Amino acid sequence: MPIPPHRPRLAVDAAAAAVLSCMVAPTTATAADGLAPASDCALPGRTGWTDEGHDTDRALFQPATGTRRVLTLFVDFPDTPATESTQPYADHLAPVADWFGTAGYGRIRLDVTPLHRWMRLPAPSDSYGFARGLTFEAHEKYLQDAITAADPYADLSRYDMVYVVPTKAATVISFSPAYIHDPATPGVTADGTRLKWAVTFGQDMWHWGFKVAVHETGHTFGLPDLYAFSGATHRYVGGWDVMGDIAGHAPQFLGWHSWKLGWTRDRQVACLAGTGRRTVALTPVERPGGTKIAVVRTGETTGYVAEARQGQGILVYRVDSAVQTGEGPVRVMNDQRAYAPGEAFTDPDAGVRIDVLPGSAVRVTRTR
Ligand SMILES: [Zn+2]
Repeated sequence: MPIPPHRPRLAVDAAAAAVLSCMVAPTTATAADGLAPASDCALPGRTGWTDEGHDTDRALFQPATGTRRVLTLFVDFPDTPATESTQPYADHLAPVADWFGTAGYGRIRLDVTPLHRWMRLPAPSDSYGFARGLTFEAHEKYLQDAITAADPYADLSRYDMVYVVPTKAATVISFSPAYIHDPATPGVTADGTRLKWAVTFGQDMWHWGFKVAVHETGHTFGLPDLYAFSGATHRYVGGWDVMGDIAGHAPQFLGWHSWKLGWTRDRQVACLAGTGRRTVALTPVERPGGTKIAVVRTGETTGYVAEARQGQGILVYRVDSAVQTGEGPVRVMNDQRAYAPGEAFTDPDAGVRIDVLPGSAVRVTRTR
């Protein structure tokens, strides 16, 4: 299998460490209410990597539904041996499971099992390349060393992914990249199975809190970075999605992501794929049930999405599934502010207008 054309040279989020100051089976929908089937608004992925395409490449990324079993390993090093309890480390990340349970409307269960002992890695903490902009290969070596150390103590074939948490003394392990296997290489193996997905945490987990686990696990589900790899870091979506600013004011997942991940169903998507005008009552993404997003498709890989945010109004954003991770595949309109009833978003060039009505409803119009 060929290497994806845009596989990053660096480990996922290694680039972010330099940018951030903090170190770092579709179903057949019915055309209810005269709207097009949801599938008419499902954009095709075009990047070969994490992107906003509705379908996710299962050769690369793990499903985001059902039970996902995570083994947490705690690691120390010959130069930074640990003697403290591993419990506070596990406790720090533990809320990730509830976060996914709530955001996923119960359609995903993240079953996290901490292996409460320190795994001594064979090489010094500064030998793994974190200080130099971690390469994919160096990241894989680090992960393989952790897996090999854990092999006598756990049956790794029982888990879908691994979290690797270093002792606080290993200050050089500064940031928290996700690992997504490359099917074209031998990869990381243990107990006769291939380990395809992992998050290796760094000291920035103490800055971000458990939501760094949400963000990095999101990559293993195929979600791209919504912050900017260059320029003003949070100019695209701010803190409206945890793939943007992890510490943002509303670090949920966008409704568009929820649909891609299988948490929002096709019948909960109102799609306007041609000219017309429709009124859609939205249920805030923070609550289960109801119609979650109204989509106005504007091109082969583009569309506008409106969703309701609890107590904040209607968020409108532009999605382009041909745009690479870190280059703005989602851009929130209106200077990243939600709209209030009586306000409207317009894109005259695309012939799109989205009027915000009372009660979390929108009227979507496309004239060309
Ligand atoms: Zn990221």
